Amino acid sequence: MPSLTTPGAVIRFTNYRDHDRMLTILSPIYGRIDALSRGCRKPKSALMPASELFVHGEFVVYQNNDRHTLTSCTITDTFYPLRLDPYRLTCASYMAALCNAAIQPGLAAQEQYALLLRGLYYLSYDEEADALALTTAYLLLFADAIGYRPRLSRCAHCRTKLDLTFGGQMDVAAGGLCCPNCNSRITYPLTVDEIKWMSITLREGLKPTKNTEASTLFDMLRRYVESRLGMSIKVSKFLP
Ligand SMILES: [Zn+2]
Repeated sequence: MPSLTTPGAVIRFTNYRDHDRMLTILSPIYGRIDALSRGCRKPKSALMPASELFVHGEFVVYQNNDRHTLTSCTITDTFYPLRLDPYRLTCASYMAALCNAAIQPGLAAQEQYALLLRGLYYLSYDEEADALALTTAYLLLFADAIGYRPRLSRCAHCRTKLDLTFGGQMDVAAGGLCCPNCNSRITYPLTVDEIKWMSITLREGLKPTKNTEASTLFDMLRRYVESRLGMSIKVSKFLP
């Protein structure tokens, strides 16, 4: 039976039986892998350090039909500082939960994987970075990575080119900004600066930021992404 060797990050785990744990590993090559870490909760298990949330490394997984079992892992990083800051830990857990909800087994997820690692890295090691602003940027870029980039230049309903001199109206259900003629649904008013921030973030990718202005968009983007996924994600209730 074949073994898979892949870089990956643990995005979820559930304790199983007395000593086991079911891990969900995000792989850039294979997407989501659900793998049994057998005996990892025994005191001297070699798999114990690799069977924690956010562990990043090279995983070797034994594959038998649809079942996967973790064989070994060479750890690159555990993002340990997250354990010392409950708020940052919640932000990181939300990032991981979004991956768990959106990414399917067997489908490559390079962009989502790279984005998650950057998010975990900045949350862990950049004390200057604002955690909520970072999570907000993550939401926007995650939406883009799973194929739901919000429309910012043309009306999401009628495709008219938008005049954004005085800001705009975001229609979460329609997937973007909408023009005054289509602005009959429940929309979020966005300022010129907020729209500009979204455009720049989509262009430049995830960067640590001290600017907390971005976090005013957190609630809108959470609704946007979770409505696209068709589910609400529990851990986001603890944010902002
Ligand atoms: Zn319109």
